[in-house]
Amino acid sequence: MTLGTSQHPLRVAIIGSGPSGFYAADHLQKQADLVVEIDMFDRLPTPYGLVRGGVAPDHQKIKSVTKVYEKIAAKENFRFYGNVEFGADVTHADMQKRYHALIFTTGAQTDRRLNIPGEDLPGSHPATEFVAWYNAHPDFKDCEFDLTCKAAAVVGIGNVAMDVARILARSESELHQSDIADYAMAALLKSDIETIYILGRRGPVQAAFTDPEIKEMGEMEIANVVVGPDEVKLDPASQSIYDRGDDAIIHRNMEHLRHYAENPETGKPKKIVFRFCVSPVEIIGTDKVEAIKIVKNELYQDDKGDIKAKATDQFETIPVGLVFRSVGYRGVALPGVPFNESWGTIPHDKGRVMTQPKDGQQVTGDYVAGWIKRGPSGVIGTNKPDSVETVETLLEDMRAGKINSPTSATREALEALLNERGVRFVTFDDWLILNDIELARGMEQGRPRIKFTSVEEMLAALEEHEQGALVAGD
Ligand code: NAP
Repeated sequence: MTLGTSQHPLRVAIIGSGPSGFYAADHLQKQADLVVEIDMFDRLPTPYGLVRGGVAPDHQKIKSVTKVYEKIAAKENFRFYGNVEFGADVTHADMQKRYHALIFTTGAQTDRRLNIPGEDLPGSHPATEFVAWYNAHPDFKDCEFDLTCKAAAVVGIGNVAMDVARILARSESELHQSDIADYAMAALLKSDIETIYILGRRGPVQAAFTDPEIKEMGEMEIANVVVGPDEVKLDPASQSIYDRGDDAIIHRNMEHLRHYAENPETGKPKKIVFRFCVSPVEIIGTDKVEAIKIVKNELYQDDKGDIKAKATDQFETIPVGLVFRSVGYRGVALPGVPFNESWGTIPHDKGRVMTQPKDGQQVTGDYVAGWIKRGPSGVIGTNKPDSVETVETLLEDMRAGKINSPTSATREALEALLNERGVRFVTFDDWLILNDIELARGMEQGRPRIKFTSVEEMLAALEEHEQGALVAGD
């Protein structure tokens, strides 16, 4: 029987409901001659991955990309199974029996480490944890951040570092316009933090942040940006990269930074201080973070032309009570799926999962897209071509007959298994109910939304809604 027809639909499970998962679903839906059933799974009852749990709560415009995902989810051939954990509620073998192909789009859920003394002192946190906490991710709602200190350091100069620094320095009215978790807003409004140091190991030309984010720093209601004049002086190698003029982001970043250096702001109660060419060497403290020791770096160009940082013998100690390590996200291994420990990604060939990065064998029926495929880089839209590549590979394998031959290839079989295991899966319609409740709660307080912060609370709200619907005879 031909696969991909109404008698014999292609069944694809997408594990992870962030942008790359939705773009994979979208590309499958765009195949005019293919009858496909797409089941998307998420460990949480809520979809959208980092759009909900990572994108900063004061960046509501970016979050509006979910409108596109809603349209994908509304199509007849799409189902959402939230609150289902791959590897716990369903195993790899369970899924292979029920789907012709699995696409892993689980992103990068944990952090990279600095590997310096004091990194595990109370008060030293991965930025990923802080981000998940202020975004109301249920796993992180009980995290505690001691905001009673006067200064904090953020290590790294990517966009996540910008998000963290901004959230630490936002005013009450700015936070009010965001969908930050209620508990986080309450804690931040009591914060004593006045100074936030952003520490980059290389120079401003090598910064990973982008120009809208650095521009936004200068538009904060209660925080001044501090960039010392020496911070924007370029070493010869960086100067020649700048002079080449082929990277517009570098030019715009430098323009903003020079503007801050030449027009020092004063008068606001908080300050965000940029320090370039410094690396933390130790986080100091007895029972908790008391200071961060940094070394001044010199930049040099290696054989490949890359600009690298080299430590000098000039050290400095900055008193801070909190350190956020914002040096990149890292993927987490999935049970039964190959994983490259050094890169934190699933080894693949054009999205086809391989047993190992080099000279590996294909794992039939397994595919990967997004950050868990290529590492944590790029903006939301970067995931689109990445997912398209993976789906094209999957379709090529399907045509060559190189995918799974599931024995229970129906939605009924999947749902029977989940019910048998007592898994209360959350459908997309359920999510839309939760979404409406969050939006309505937000509206009452003049905020974009007020998020649920625990899975229990979400399931209870759904239960209550069902009871209400029963009473109303719906
Ligand atoms: P990132 O862009 O990769 O930045 C990581 C930063 O950490 C870099 O400045 C890097 O410096 C530094 N770093 C790495 N190892 C270090 C070490 N041992 N010591 C000191 N510094 C170190 O990562 P990210 O900020 O987590 O962002 C992840 C992705 O999400 C990025 O593509 C980002 O653009 C995207 N994002 C976008 C937005 C937005 O569009 N508004 C918001 C948030 C995130 P080197 O360059 O020297 O390695």
